[in-house]
Amino acid sequence: MSDEPLKLRYYGDPVLRRKATPVAGVTPEIRELIRGMFECMYRERGVGLAAPQVGVSQRIFVVDVEEEPGERKKLALVNPVMTKRSGSIVEEEGCLSIPGIHADVKRFEEVVFEALDEEGAPVTVRGRKLLARALQHELDHLDGVLFIDRLSAIRRKLLESKLARMRFGDEEREARATGATPSL
Ligand code: ZN
Repeated sequence: MSDEPLKLRYYGDPVLRRKATPVAGVTPEIRELIRGMFECMYRERGVGLAAPQVGVSQRIFVVDVEEEPGERKKLALVNPVMTKRSGSIVEEEGCLSIPGIHADVKRFEEVVFEALDEEGAPVTVRGRKLLARALQHELDHLDGVLFIDRLSAIRRKLLESKLARMRFGDEEREARATGATPSL
């Protein structure tokens, strides 16, 4: 793999709509990809990033969130599956690949994920609050789903012209995530 930093893909890029394929094995190349994904996520000031967002259609994502104040969860998950879910909560979220758009999205309040970690070992991750939201947002990316797909029809309609401009690359892009809303 080259030393070129991974580039973020934006709304309108077909890779964001593709269903990502399972990872066959956690090889040194996969670990290198994960390292690059963390780097890209921190550079863009996001708290989560899925492989399709850097143009790689494989089932991998990374997150680094504070689940509780001072309780930081930095995780790389390979072939993640959501095995438990409960409750529901509406909060604002954003996506690094759709800069400048934030909206309230309903998510499960608590989730359990099974996956492989960056060493290829099986892990179980319990997520609440922002971690639960991040896990669900990133899993959606692996299935070609974006958070705007989960908005009400009315809310989506309001965003339509902004999204259309973005699709054609005319929209000014914020250089980095800003503000209090988590970008994932
Ligand atoms: Zn996203």
